[in-house]
Amino acid sequence: MARVRLVAGNWKMHGSRASVAALLDALVAQNPAGCAVCPPFPYLAQVADRLRGTRIAWGAQNVSEHAQGAYTGEVSAAMLAEFGCRYVIVGHSERRHLYGESDAQVAAKYGAARKAGLTPILCVGETLDERDAGRTEEVVARQLSAVQFTGGVLAYEPVWAIGTGRNATPEQAQAVHAYLRNRVPAETPILYGGSVKPQNAAAIFAMPDVDGGLIGGASLVAKDFLDIVKAAT
Ligand code: PEP
Repeated sequence: MARVRLVAGNWKMHGSRASVAALLDALVAQNPAGCAVCPPFPYLAQVADRLRGTRIAWGAQNVSEHAQGAYTGEVSAAMLAEFGCRYVIVGHSERRHLYGESDAQVAAKYGAARKAGLTPILCVGETLDERDAGRTEEVVARQLSAVQFTGGVLAYEPVWAIGTGRNATPEQAQAVHAYLRNRVPAETPILYGGSVKPQNAAAIFAMPDVDGGLIGGASLVAKDFLDIVKAAT
């Protein structure tokens, strides 16, 4: 089966009803295939309504590993699925590092998402210290092997490149993607994430094992996001 190309926008904790409406209007005006947006939870229903009948998919940024119960502040995979959610990001480095999510917790979230019929976007990536110590492959292999990886999208996101303006070179990205490629089912899209901008997207996406991108900051600017989607598809 051919690997699909995908560019997913991670809006993180940004936006308002008005800014979400404006961003979606601009995206829908072009209605590109091969892309998805991941807004904060409160805007999911607004996004679902606006994107219905378009080619643009949507996802969430997080999901509980639990099915239901006394978990204040958490959102289950079944709740997301009920709204028509397609993707959910799991294991983002901000979740791992700011909220202490362990490999085991990420694996449980991945499993919960799959069970509800969602497509998890599993993020893996090394810190700068780990890269400098020559441990990149060991770290991403550990993060990946913690998960029963089937039916998902994989995102390689070097932590030192996220939100820093410092992206991996196309060759650095390709080297890790090629390493990961041998460890996942052949049809798995592997996205690169870390300071992807319209200016560097085409060179990164031209690498043979890079199937698209997970985009943070640039996904909040409609023209930038659309240009990045164009570079991938
Ligand atoms: C991200 O948060 O997944 C990300 C890649 O962010 P940025 O594009 O801003 O580096």
